[in-house]
Amino acid sequence: MNITSKIILSLLFFININACNRSQSDDSPLNFNINPCDHFYEYVCSNTRERYPFSNDKQGFIFADIFRLHVKNIKSELGVPEEIRSNFNKFKDQCLEAENNNLNLCQGAAEARYLQNLYAKNINLFIPNFLDHEKKANEIFNRLKFNLIQNVQKSDLIDESIKNKAIAEMNESQLIIQQPKLQEEDANNENIKIDYEVLNSLNDYFYNIAHEKDKKVFIGLSVVQLLNTSHSNKTNINSVSHIIAHELGHILLNPFIGSPQWSYIFKSLREEFNDLEESKNFLPNFFGLTYGEYTFSENFSDLVAMQLSYEDSLLAQNEMEENSKNSKIGTNNNEKEFFISYAKNFCTTKRHAEMPLIVSYENKLIPADMHARAVYRVDLGVRRMPQFSEAFQCAAHNKLSFKPVFDLKIW
Ligand SMILES: [Zn+2]
Repeated sequence: MNITSKIILSLLFFININACNRSQSDDSPLNFNINPCDHFYEYVCSNTRERYPFSNDKQGFIFADIFRLHVKNIKSELGVPEEIRSNFNKFKDQCLEAENNNLNLCQGAAEARYLQNLYAKNINLFIPNFLDHEKKANEIFNRLKFNLIQNVQKSDLIDESIKNKAIAEMNESQLIIQQPKLQEEDANNENIKIDYEVLNSLNDYFYNIAHEKDKKVFIGLSVVQLLNTSHSNKTNINSVSHIIAHELGHILLNPFIGSPQWSYIFKSLREEFNDLEESKNFLPNFFGLTYGEYTFSENFSDLVAMQLSYEDSLLAQNEMEENSKNSKIGTNNNEKEFFISYAKNFCTTKRHAEMPLIVSYENKLIPADMHARAVYRVDLGVRRMPQFSEAFQCAAHNKLSFKPVFDLKIW
């Protein structure tokens, strides 16, 4: 081995070590000064929020912010290779001129065009053992989809015609894991017409968390990396399972609308969210909608996510117990872990938590977010689950103690 390749190899090794050692996860301890039965979100998230007070990101979910910071560091280590630097800069300058100096757009478009190959080849620097985690995410999706179909099939709360429609739609659903892809030669062809917006959207894998469109569930790399964090394997699976199950909830909603069970859930969720102090600050009659109505589809998906991923955690638990031939690994702790991993997904920065409900956009006042605030998504979510009260041994007077009126069965 000559001296140059030795240097290159040791450099590569150095980059690798750095990537593995860098903290990609948030291990902030729970806040034991807070009673989880009254303020579960604060119990799980307050220390994390103190540690990561600000974010410039509009989503502000801390797990994704941490990942983006990690991505930024890896990108700066990779740099723009010398041989493409001048093309990269030329392209970016052209874009800036054409697009009113929109730096985010042009940086994204230039990266998608010139650096995607580099990112794809180095995917293991961004997420160590990427292929294993990709496989795991697909397994989680398939299991959730299968169980959701089974639940709908077996339910006596849903009419046959709605069942058939829902099952057909669920069968069509698929998971898309967004990631940099090796570009074919003609992606670099100078003669093709360039749509900077489209190009920039190809660079979304580092920034998107998850969304659903046309029965496709898209997850970004910040979700895949949850499978790589230092928590127990089961906690990682729970976190990803919550996120994917929420997106499956969006697919279920459409065929579900109009069933008697839907009306009951719609009314209950609407009242629950309209009753929040928060709802008084919501633009009165935004398109004739109340706060509970405006956030309904997201709240419905959260409801699906909680019920589906809870079942999934039980299945994963049984599987692990069978594999390890252990009799039982402290069930109470497992339940606690499940709810904690649920809440962790929602921990947001202070800036995000204090974001006004209404923002001004192109001289109009519009709602800032179709989701309810994270604190409600967590606290109202866990109080529906009798298992939560049992796990944390909540007393009847505690705010988040289970009451039958909170129990909303979808299937
Ligand atoms: Zn959603």
